[in-house]
Amino acid sequence: MTKNKKVSLATISLAGCFGCHMSFLDMDMKVVDLVDLVDLHTSPFNDLKDFTQKVDVGLIEGGVCNDENVERLRSFRKNCKILISLGECAIMGGLPALRNNIPLKDCLEEAYVNTPTTDTQKGIIPHHEDIPKILDKVYPCHEVVKIDYFLPGCPPSADAIWQILTDLIHGKEPQLNYGQIKYD
Ligand code: SF4
Repeated sequence: MTKNKKVSLATISLAGCFGCHMSFLDMDMKVVDLVDLVDLHTSPFNDLKDFTQKVDVGLIEGGVCNDENVERLRSFRKNCKILISLGECAIMGGLPALRNNIPLKDCLEEAYVNTPTTDTQKGIIPHHEDIPKILDKVYPCHEVVKIDYFLPGCPPSADAIWQILTDLIHGKEPQLNYGQIKYD
């Protein structure tokens, strides 16, 4: 990446809880500094859904749980020069992957048919062509596309997100210290 050039950034939440995006905002006043360093493209922060150009860095929150996630992740790979898996869900599926040892059919029946709070006499599992198709399990992002960097944490700290972004902005290989990636 060209040294000290303003960096174009895109972010997305796949099968995540938005906690990683919340952590990003936890930079507090550094977010103001970031405005001078970064151009924000498609992101939940600005509600822009589509790419209008190729961008330098893409941050991915969440793993891949349905066919829409696959499509969006592939679009990010195509449109971002550098892709970063942000947080445990993106890196290894995280909490949504707890369903991976249970057959999908059983998960859906538990959620929509068998649960005591289900308000239906018919036990219908929702399905429609407009509803994303759920995958057999939740996949980490790097099993679907090539990922360039992995930032662990649930969520990664604002400090660690700032560090990886500013290192890339200044044309440096990202270097995080032990405290930024240590989780007890
Ligand atoms: Fe939420 Fe943690 Fe997953 Fe980030 S890694 S999306 S904070 S559950």
